[in-house]
Amino acid sequence: MDKEVDVFYRELPKVELHAHLNGSVSFQTIEKLIRRKPQLNIEHNMTAIGKGQRRTLDECFQVFKVIHQLVDSEEDILMVATDVIKEFAADGVKYLELRSTPREETTTGLSKRKYIETVIQAIQQCKKEGVDIDVRFLVAIDRRNGSQVAMETVQLAEEFLVSSDGLVIGIDLSGDPTVGHGRDLIPALQRAKNSGLKLSLHLSEVLSQYDETNLLLDIPPDRIGHGTFLHPEMGGSENLVDKVVQKKIPLELCLTSNVKGQTVQCFDEHHFKYWYKMGHPVVICTDDKGVFATDLSQEYKIAATTFGLDREAIWKLSKQAIDYIFAPDSVKQQLKQRWRELQPEFK
Ligand code: 5GP
Repeated sequence: MDKEVDVFYRELPKVELHAHLNGSVSFQTIEKLIRRKPQLNIEHNMTAIGKGQRRTLDECFQVFKVIHQLVDSEEDILMVATDVIKEFAADGVKYLELRSTPREETTTGLSKRKYIETVIQAIQQCKKEGVDIDVRFLVAIDRRNGSQVAMETVQLAEEFLVSSDGLVIGIDLSGDPTVGHGRDLIPALQRAKNSGLKLSLHLSEVLSQYDETNLLLDIPPDRIGHGTFLHPEMGGSENLVDKVVQKKIPLELCLTSNVKGQTVQCFDEHHFKYWYKMGHPVVICTDDKGVFATDLSQEYKIAATTFGLDREAIWKLSKQAIDYIFAPDSVKQQLKQRWRELQPEFK
């Protein structure tokens, strides 16, 4: 591997907008968790998908279940969130929107409220320690849990929107895309939108979700996660593409995740190409850097080598991501200033 090239991606200031907390747990942190809970008999190959390996989407969701067994107390969440934030910072990420599904665990006394409070505590702790990264939190709805839990999650997020000093800023809709129908979640998502929470929705992650995607696009979301099967070349439709384009909804694109999760055949065929060529807003993200054994520098490098983007184009891509963050304009201005200060010479 060319070290000098790698340094460019590592030093590139980056914005990460699609990172699930429990999918982002590194090998080292998993090691600590396994030591804390040896009775679970969990091994590393059960929590990550290594180089050259691929899994079905269903198998990926099994991996999250294993990680959830390892992360089931306030103490675990604090450690995991702190480690994840520091790892993103070490990778050159200057602004991070972390997302996670609040869980309750009767055995450890964990409540959903405490879950969110603990993530906030980790963010504040990193800030106090001077870690060079601005972190915000999106409360996730797991679609598998149905409409009532979705509504309760939104209500909880609304409380934190008011009380967290700008740290909780939005809602994510994720979870196994083959379970349930998005139409049932519209009241909760609409309520979130009305109360000022930003919305990032996983849409068309699998084939044949035209009706659901069409309905959810009418809310509309502020950003789309994956959107793999939106466009006609992937079995989607012009109508969906038109809606996304007209509403200028940015897409969060996760190359390694999609290839390892087998919703995309290979990097060459990734829908990044379709949207980027069109000039539509796209943001390169990791999705689950722990599970898919990657990091954001690596994802930018893959995009550059696969689609022939030079350093200037990559720089533009990382800078453009600032426009799509959920934090207010003042934060965008600060980040743009940071990018100006760090910009290298392009020959
Ligand atoms: P957590 O919310 O527990 O911090 O992160 C893991 C959860 O994020 C998973 O259980 C799943 O609900 C969601 N998730 C992670 N990666 C993906 C993905 O690629 N697609 C979807 N739809 N959900 C995901």
